[in-house]
Amino acid sequence: MLPAMPMTRSNLRIGVVATCCVWAVVILAFSLSLAGASSSVVFSLAGAVGALCTYLLLVVFGSDEEEEAGMRVTWARTLWERVSSEPMPARLGEEGDGAYAARIFALAQEEARQAQVEPHGSEDFRRALDGMDLPVLAFDDQGMAILANYAAAAYFGIGEDLIRSRSVEELLPQREAFELVQNAIKGTGGKRSVKAAQRIIEIVAAPVRSERADGHFAAVVTLRDITELALASQLKTDFVASASHEIRTPLASIRAAAETLRDGAAEVPALRERFLTMIQNNTERLEELTRDLMDLSRLETPEVEVEKRDVGLEVEVDAIRTMLSPALTQRKLTLVADFGGIRQLHTDPKLLRLILQNLIDNSAKYGNEETEIRLGMRAIESEKGRPGVRITVSDRGIGIPLAAQSRIFERFYQVDMSRSGQQQRRGTGLGLAIVKHAVKSLGGTIGVESVWQQGTTMTVELPDSVGEMAPE
Ligand code: ADP
Repeated sequence: MLPAMPMTRSNLRIGVVATCCVWAVVILAFSLSLAGASSSVVFSLAGAVGALCTYLLLVVFGSDEEEEAGMRVTWARTLWERVSSEPMPARLGEEGDGAYAARIFALAQEEARQAQVEPHGSEDFRRALDGMDLPVLAFDDQGMAILANYAAAAYFGIGEDLIRSRSVEELLPQREAFELVQNAIKGTGGKRSVKAAQRIIEIVAAPVRSERADGHFAAVVTLRDITELALASQLKTDFVASASHEIRTPLASIRAAAETLRDGAAEVPALRERFLTMIQNNTERLEELTRDLMDLSRLETPEVEVEKRDVGLEVEVDAIRTMLSPALTQRKLTLVADFGGIRQLHTDPKLLRLILQNLIDNSAKYGNEETEIRLGMRAIESEKGRPGVRITVSDRGIGIPLAAQSRIFERFYQVDMSRSGQQQRRGTGLGLAIVKHAVKSLGGTIGVESVWQQGTTMTVELPDSVGEMAPE
């Protein structure tokens, strides 16, 4: 049984008014009899006054449609909550939202049978169904639509009355959808994803015992647009494929080197040295890859923790310089920093480190030997709070072809360097994806300016970030 419709305030008022009228009649009768009037005159007069009062008061207080509608919505919500706390029947349990809708439908039928009204004509049932933002349709055992909620009308772009009496094939022309509904009518629910006008729709059909009880079922169908979900899942698959590929390559080199050493190369000093170096380089590459993957996965979670504090720039950049010194020394590069009078940034130190380290590391990889890498900072206006900072990292080096510039922030994207004729240290292809996410977590923006074979400037702007400025 569904919960009973609660008493609305207007119902309550009518009740109070009616009770008052009865009392008024009694008091009037009592006073008139005290005054000595005959009892038949007293009661007809009292009845007439009572009826008139009741009528007038009902006219004044009796109608409050808006309030009543509000109460009914609340009741529909209660119904919804009641339905959602109902245990799912085992047969429908797998079907999620479809089972949900079917459950409501079944409860409405049960209520309708008891109240002897049309099930889908029940206003309360309709309200509960229209409250769902998922398109819901019900088909009878002949495959004709008997019901559609608001969301379904919006989905098909036609009124609910036009949806009714259309067949499954007319509404859902995909063969899979037709089979799904037919199976539900025969008593077996199911779920399929179909393509519809460039979108991917998940259709769930659940059987509900038909009122005619001739062994057939009505089919309650829900439609869910899962295009974004499918895209995200595809991206994840691509990501796992790329990551595995990146990991397999150094692992294969390590294995090959170890086997060659065991097969005799270890006895020849020059070969031993060569293969041990190969093992060492590939192990470092694996370390770099796992570190980048972990940084990226941390930054790609929806709620990245940002803990801002004051970060001294001299100390921070010295630490990065030390960390990257092997690459800088090997390629005879100099890191020149100009902080534009900013002493401290008020930002998340870990995210700032990821941004600066990856950008400077790229310049160290792709800058020409014996050149300078310039790190610049300038205070800029912020919409609110502290001033923002514009950070630039520039190099003179290989540059990025124009066509590749929009793709360099994608995970694992690397420009094909073979055309340049230069021998660069290979990265993981994750550095700029990490920087992009770190910048986003700090509410900032990133841009690139680059000329192929000349050099690159990466610009990051972080709002509300300047801590302490040096005195003028
Ligand atoms: P990687 O680890 O390969 O450097 P990134 O995500 O950091 O990966 O960069 C993606 C690609 O963008 C690099 O492979 C490289 O081709 C290009 N790139 C990034 N920074 C520079 C730069 N300063 N100069 C030239 N090319 C760059």
